[in-house]
Amino acid sequence: MAGMKTIIEPFKIKSVEPIRVTTREERVGLLAEAGYNPFLLKADDVIIDLLTDSGTSAMSAKQWACIMDGDESYAGSRSFYRFESKVREITGFRNIIPTHQGRAAEHILFSLLGGAGKHFASNTHFDTTRANIEVSGAEAHDFLTAEGKRPEFRAPFKGNIDLPAFKRFVDEVGAENIPLCLMTVTNNSGGGQPVSMANIRETSVFCRSRGIPFFIDACRFAENSWFIKTREEGYADRSVLSIAQELFSYADGATMSAKKDALVNIGGFLAINDDALAMTARNSLIVTEGFPTYGGLAGRDLEAMAQGLEEILDEDYLRYRVRTAEYLGERIVAMGVPIIEPPGGHAVYIDAKRFVPDIPAGQFPAQAVSCALYLEGGVRTVEIGSVMFGKRDAEGRHIAPPMELVRMALPRRVYTQSHIDYVIEVVEEVWKRRAELKGLRFTYEAPVLRHFTARFEPLR
Ligand SMILES: *Cc1c(COP(=O)(O)O)cnc(C)c1O
Repeated sequence: MAGMKTIIEPFKIKSVEPIRVTTREERVGLLAEAGYNPFLLKADDVIIDLLTDSGTSAMSAKQWACIMDGDESYAGSRSFYRFESKVREITGFRNIIPTHQGRAAEHILFSLLGGAGKHFASNTHFDTTRANIEVSGAEAHDFLTAEGKRPEFRAPFKGNIDLPAFKRFVDEVGAENIPLCLMTVTNNSGGGQPVSMANIRETSVFCRSRGIPFFIDACRFAENSWFIKTREEGYADRSVLSIAQELFSYADGATMSAKKDALVNIGGFLAINDDALAMTARNSLIVTEGFPTYGGLAGRDLEAMAQGLEEILDEDYLRYRVRTAEYLGERIVAMGVPIIEPPGGHAVYIDAKRFVPDIPAGQFPAQAVSCALYLEGGVRTVEIGSVMFGKRDAEGRHIAPPMELVRMALPRRVYTQSHIDYVIEVVEEVWKRRAELKGLRFTYEAPVLRHFTARFEPLR
């Protein structure tokens, strides 16, 4: 146990990257040039980049050694076999198909199983997952528990699927129209909240009883496994690896973005038990990604992924990882800042509905807070709310999603405690001046995944 001492970064820094410190005056111009969309800022104009934890991890010295050691054979690369055996050790799945990132695995899976009239179910679909389902012509349905939708409510497993609601839905549309149920661990869009082993097991039992394949969106499987170890009865003495193995044992397959819990900058995979489905997936992979033993990646990437999957299960790392989000959360909650409680594994989510209650959903309150954090301290965050998930009704009126969030995602092994202390100071400044924040309106909006490229202007 860590006792009362500070939970330190369990690594030393071997190689550094400078941060360019901008002034507030510069940032006013830079944000306007970026159309008030932090996605459109240049990374060099950002001081602390909490846009995403995706692909932003610092690799270890051993992973960099793997980059040199990768086998670049077109077919049958040694690095593929190392990667395959590591994924198989953790997940137990039969067919391991590498892809260049998570959404490529999703695209293959949902283009094979999707199509008009099909319905997919999840605790919460991540945005690229939903987009791949919808692009196929199918529908994506989220069944998050009531407690998962209450940001201020503290519960250990707020990522759980609402199983009774999902069961009713299956009766309504028919199991034969549901090609797959996908459990997202941890639930990224719902606040990085974990899913309990009990919920995973019960969902799996139900899906199997109705012949619905059960898959895991495994992006943050290690963080979720750590939460099971520390929060769920009966798991305290189990290794995180054995918890992860149990979690995957309930599923028929998984999609994974290795840019999260595999500690690499690019990579992913699709894992499938069903040999026939895996064969069609590999054929699709050959058309879109590459040969099945490299799938859109270099051999070195596969090698680094295998090593990252080993390091992610280190319990000192996971203790530090989860503590970082908890520390940031505790400190800003102490000032009165509303967040999703308790903080998830990879991020702290500010609840913008309560941060700026006077800005209506149609004027993008979370985008306004995100912009203010950049102006105040060069901290880049991302809106997860009406910009990302808002829809329009037939008359073009805004339909708001349930939550308006500002995600402060924490890149793995990149920032130290003093960087986090700086972020806390920036949040405090914006919180003090929250009454001055103004909403925004679109000046450009793309038809799908509009948050990546949208441009705005501030309302007066
Ligand atoms: C990042 C992410 C994805 C998509 O992965 P990419 O590598 O970005 O394509 C899918 N699901 C979840 C939960 C994610 O966090």
